[in-house]
Amino acid sequence: MELIIGSNVSFTKDKGLLGSVEETLSYNANTFMFYTGSNRSRARNPINSDKTYEAFKLMIENNINPKNVIVHSPFLINLANKKELSKYNFSIDFLITELERTKELGFDNLVLHPGSAINCTKEEGIENIAEGINEALSKTEDTNILLEYMSGKGNEVGSSIDELKQIIEKVNQKDRIYVCLDTCHMNDSGIDLTKIDDFLDEFDEKIGIDKIKCIHINDSLNEISSHKDRHANIGYGKIGFETITNIIYNKRLEGKPFLLETPFINRNMNNAKAPYKEEIKMIREKKFTDFINQ
Ligand code: ZN
Ligand code: FE
Ligand code: FE
Repeated sequence: MELIIGSNVSFTKDKGLLGSVEETLSYNANTFMFYTGSNRSRARNPINSDKTYEAFKLMIENNINPKNVIVHSPFLINLANKKELSKYNFSIDFLITELERTKELGFDNLVLHPGSAINCTKEEGIENIAEGINEALSKTEDTNILLEYMSGKGNEVGSSIDELKQIIEKVNQKDRIYVCLDTCHMNDSGIDLTKIDDFLDEFDEKIGIDKIKCIHINDSLNEISSHKDRHANIGYGKIGFETITNIIYNKRLEGKPFLLETPFINRNMNNAKAPYKEEIKMIREKKFTDFINQ
């Protein structure tokens, strides 16, 4: 089966989805992920249907299956905190908007960070998250929510199989709730990724591997159990190239989309550059090259 691999790409006001697909092709990728607008603001531009149509033509010509394309919801959404009711309702409304935009663009899957248990216990946070998801799903159609496996930074909910399972159990529409794994987050939460099959055994027993819709692939700047969530380029962090490629080529994850969210090279400088073309090439060839320092 062909490897399904891509990265986070941009989605701009002017070029819309067409720009996202063109960027994807420039990385020799066959899938992609994007945010439908700013990650830290509520402002959203209307979707340009002409650009969306052109983008789908280009996707079909290049064998990009829309089922493998992932939309990421903005970080502003926090469904765990219900103490500040206006913020909670804002989060539900924003999630509904993003579910609708995902559907309007022709895609099925929206990744969501479950939330941060501010002003409440983890148990209450889990309850609030499930309630918010139920409301958003009841007011929308078709689009799935993919709960991201988190690093456990601060009060983050969803940094273990058990916490994700507890949320999923409380969701009414079970056919619309899935999981998005993230290698950096798993490492930082305390998972030994050299033993990925042990993790997958537990995941399969408690949730089911068929519930894993996609995997974010990032190296981590920090050691296992650090609860930091700082992504590193593939092979430049504490997880390492070999462990990451072993996950990507694990038979049990075959056919699922893998998405890079690794940092740009020379990030805060004029010559900032996306690392994705090189990282995808290395992963396809299963061979690390020190492309950053070359
Ligand atoms: Zn995420
Ligand atoms: Fe992620
Ligand atoms: Fe992250």
